[in-house]
Amino acid sequence: MLVRLTYFSRALRAMSLADIRDILQTARRNNADRGVCGMLSYASDWFLQALEGPREVVNDLFLEIADDPRHQDVIIVSYEVIAEPLFADWQMGYVSDAGEVARLLAELGLQHFDPPAMSPAQALAFLRALGELEHSAAA
Ligand code: FAD
Repeated sequence: MLVRLTYFSRALRAMSLADIRDILQTARRNNADRGVCGMLSYASDWFLQALEGPREVVNDLFLEIADDPRHQDVIIVSYEVIAEPLFADWQMGYVSDAGEVARLLAELGLQHFDPPAMSPAQALAFLRALGELEHSAAA
């Protein structure tokens, strides 16, 4: 059974590009081995991440991530059984262009990146739009 788990959390301190690269490198390596894909977003000290893959694997990975000392206040936004992944192309996608992120937020009617204020549908729509952006950037 495949599931998608989406959560947000607060970084313990402001993350540099090198910090994010470090997380992405580990995520991409481990997720490829585990058959997990997803999308990560970071701005204004907030993380928002979707993880997709086999249920037990995603559950275990989430517990591991939630325990990571680099962030706190980890809140699950949604957890659903899915027929197929939305983020199959990314072991862990990430978009670093702040201008593009602001444009996507505006399209969703949001002024800042504030995951606690996002509905589950907005959070997923935002991550999905990031995925499409990364796709067109990679094309
Ligand atoms: P290592 O990367 O070698 O880490 C060993 C231990 O050190 C872990 O407990 C780790 O939490 C800790 N650690 C590593 N670097 C730092 C650091 N700079 N500061 C403090 N502690 C550190 N991992 C995935 O596999 N897939 C993901 O999708 C994923 N997403 C993440 C999203 C966020 C927002 C964060 C903060 C972390 C994420 N991680 C992800 C990392 C995850 O929490 C674990 O660090 C990782 O799974 C452990 O990988 P490893 O066994 O290769 O050990």
